Amino acid sequence: PETKLPKVGTTIFTEMSQLAAQHSAINLSQGFPDFDGPLALLDRVTYYLEQGHNQYAPMTGVPALRSAIALKSAKLYDCKVDPETEVTVTSGATEALFAVIGSVVCSGDEVIVFDPAYDSYEPAIELNGGKVIHLALGSPDFAIDWQQLKSAMNDRTRMIILNSPHNPTGSVMSAEDLDQLEAVIKGTDVLLLSDEVYEHICYDGPHQSLLRRPALAERAFVVSSFGKTYHTTGWKVGYCIAPPALTVEFRKLHQYLTFCTVHPVQLALADFVRDFPEHYLELPVFYKQKRDLFCQLMASSRFRFTPARGTYFQLMDYSEIKPEMNDVEFARWLTTEVGVAAIPISVFYDCPPEQRLVRFCFAKDDATLTQAAEKLCKI
Ligand code: PMP
Ligand code: GLN
Repeated sequence: PETKLPKVGTTIFTEMSQLAAQHSAINLSQGFPDFDGPLALLDRVTYYLEQGHNQYAPMTGVPALRSAIALKSAKLYDCKVDPETEVTVTSGATEALFAVIGSVVCSGDEVIVFDPAYDSYEPAIELNGGKVIHLALGSPDFAIDWQQLKSAMNDRTRMIILNSPHNPTGSVMSAEDLDQLEAVIKGTDVLLLSDEVYEHICYDGPHQSLLRRPALAERAFVVSSFGKTYHTTGWKVGYCIAPPALTVEFRKLHQYLTFCTVHPVQLALADFVRDFPEHYLELPVFYKQKRDLFCQLMASSRFRFTPARGTYFQLMDYSEIKPEMNDVEFARWLTTEVGVAAIPISVFYDCPPEQRLVRFCFAKDDATLTQAAEKLCKI
């Protein structure tokens, strides 16, 4: 019988983390910190566990967390968000992305995705009978070509998926990009899915959330994740902000995908988002120090790179080291022979065959980054 996702295997994140473990390599592949979240936050989880908040949470998310999300977003992005009708807490951004796509994409709909793209979008679109329209981000800065987007749109275009700060390239959208997006969608009824899980990891100025622009927000699902912001990727708590009518459709899927999300963690996050805004406000400084340390250590290597403008990922070009290897071969070699694991980015798209780029995650202790760079500088 036909399978539903014939092109899909096991994700590169699982594959590389397993390979790193097998070879005791320093794992700079899958994106997660090797340090813990803030103690005050961990303590709140223990508190709520012990207080007995261990049964189902409300389907849409605990009210205190939805309020905290709405307040934070309103303050940062100068917008209005109604916690009752516009915010839904999900089991990670992954669930939110899947529920957005499932709730709006119908058979034959076209969805525009910019390449290289995070790996969960395409299977979700295909499972719903949609057609992925791939547009390449520009070279070498991985920015959106607005003219190309305009030409790709037609009356079958149901949705455009945006992701800024961008995984895996570390590029970010500017205020001018939002102007361009507004101009391109004007007069159409296309929807927007904005994956903003790295919203608090932006190095050159404030994050340009779609929520800043009423003309974009009125047709957008904005998705984020607490995993990135609070160094707690294992908790899988995220959220989706969308206008009431879109949220109604979104919740129809959410209630049958997971129904609700881990209860004591939501309560703890509600307290922490509200009481410690300095955590997310200082996150760019925290990660910039790590980016700069990693880049400085790697300056004497034979890798070539431009520092990432957002996310905790750094792309590096290895064409002076092993030009004969494609990036999958290079990432495997690096893991098994050099002892540092990275992500090959060709797995995210049909990339130019001559491209020689891998992605390193620098959400690591300074000691881990130093050890990894020592190894990488020897090759
Ligand atoms: N989108 C992007 C761009 C990501 O990098 C990640 C991180 N894994 C996710 C979505 C998923 O986030 P979560 O772990 O909260 O499901
Ligand atoms: N988002 C993380 C990354 O890009 C990994 C997520 C996952 O393992 N599925 O590395």
